[in-house]
Amino acid sequence: MSLRLHSVRRDTLRRWRVSILTRESRELAPWNSWSRPQSTTATTPRKTIFSGIQPTGVPHLGNYLGALRQWVDLQDDAAPNTTLIYSLVDLHAITVRQDPKQLRQWKKESLAMLLAIGLDPNKSIIFHQSDVPAHSELMWILSCQASTGYLGRMTQWKDKTANEKDSSEKLKLGLFSYPVLQAADVLVHRATHVPVGHDQAQHLEFAREVANGFNHTFGTDVLIPPETLISPAKRVMSLADPLAKMSKSHPNPKSRILLTDSDEVIRSKVKAAVTDSNDGITYDPQRRPGVSNLIDILYHADSRSAYSSQEELAGDLAGMSMRALKDRVADTVESTVKHIRASYENMLHDSSHLDEVAAQGAERAAKSAAVTMKAVKNAVGLA
Ligand code: ATP
Ligand code: MG
Repeated sequence: MSLRLHSVRRDTLRRWRVSILTRESRELAPWNSWSRPQSTTATTPRKTIFSGIQPTGVPHLGNYLGALRQWVDLQDDAAPNTTLIYSLVDLHAITVRQDPKQLRQWKKESLAMLLAIGLDPNKSIIFHQSDVPAHSELMWILSCQASTGYLGRMTQWKDKTANEKDSSEKLKLGLFSYPVLQAADVLVHRATHVPVGHDQAQHLEFAREVANGFNHTFGTDVLIPPETLISPAKRVMSLADPLAKMSKSHPNPKSRILLTDSDEVIRSKVKAAVTDSNDGITYDPQRRPGVSNLIDILYHADSRSAYSSQEELAGDLAGMSMRALKDRVADTVESTVKHIRASYENMLHDSSHLDEVAAQGAERAAKSAAVTMKAVKNAVGLA
C-alpha cells in the first residue's frame, strides 16, 4: 500500500498499516492556509499528526506498543513541515465518574509519562485538552450534524452499555456522544494522520464521516478527513483475560503491565498471565489467545528482533516450557520499560517544568485550533 507520508521517514512508516486514503489528506493544504498547493511535486505537502490519550491512569504496555511508541517515532522521524500535536484528553476521561483529586494526579502523571517516553515539547505540541475550549466548541457544532443512529452502533458504546440496558438514566449523554468530541479533537487541528490502536479505528472512521458530512452540508472543504495510522501492535490483550484488550480502566490491576512497574512486579504479572495447559509454544490467537498474546508482546516489545513474524518467532520457541517463555517475556518487557520508568520519576518531580510544558502546549494548540474555528464559524454562519 502506498503510504504517501513524505514527511516521515520510510523506515518508520514501513512498520505501519495505514487505512483509508482520502482525497483531502492526499492533497494537503498548508495547515495555516485554506488554499491547496498549485503543484504537488514542487513542495512536500505539510502534515499534521494528532493523537490523544486519556489521563485515566498510568499508561500500560498496550498503550506504549499500540500508540505511544509510534508518537515518538513519528516525532523523531518528522520532516520540518510536519506538525505533531499530542493531547491528554481529560474531557474524555470524565465520560465515566472520576474522583477530582485522582484525576488531577493522573493528568500530571500522564504528562510526565509523555515526556518520559521521549516526546519533546520543542518538537511536539503537548497539551491538556480542557485547556483549549475550541475542542468542546467544535464538538457542539459537529453534534448538530452527527447522526444518533451511527453513534448507537459504535462498538465501544455497545460494550460499555451492555450491562446497563435496563436503566437508561444511568447511561450518560457524554458516553454516547464522545466520538463526536474525538472527531472534534482531530478535526479542530486539521490533522491529516492519526496514530492509534485498533480499538479507535471505528471512531476515526466516524470522524471522516463527520468531516465529509460537514463539508458537504456547508459546501466547503474546511474539515480534513484524517487517515488512521494503526501500529503493528494493534491490540495488546489483558494478561488476566486474553480475549479482552489491556486497559487502564479495567478493575484488575494484574491485567496490565504499567510503564512504571518495577522488575519484580512485571515478572510476577507475567508469571500470573492466563495461558493454557497445552504442551509447547505455538502462535494461534484463536485457539491459544493467552500464549499468543505473550508471543505478540515479545515480538513487538523487542524492537531489535530479527524475526519477521510472530509465527517465525514461535517456531524458535516451540520446545520451550511456558515458564521459560514467561521468563523471556518478562526480561524483554523489563528492558523495554526500564529507561521509561527512570525518566518518569525525574519528570514527575519537576512540577514547574510540567506546568511550563502544559502552558506552552495549550497556547500553541489554541492557535492551531483558532485557524479552524474561524473557518468553521464562517462556513456555518456563526461569524
Ligand atoms: P481506558 O481503559 O481508560 O479507555 P485505555 O487503556 O483504553 O484506557 P486510551 O487512553 O483509551 O487507553 O487509549 C490511548 C491509546 O492507546 C489509543 O490510541 C488506543 O488505541 C491505544 N490502546 C489502548 N489500549 C490498547 C491496547 N490494549 N493495545 C494497543 N493499543 C491500545
Ligand atoms: Mg480506551
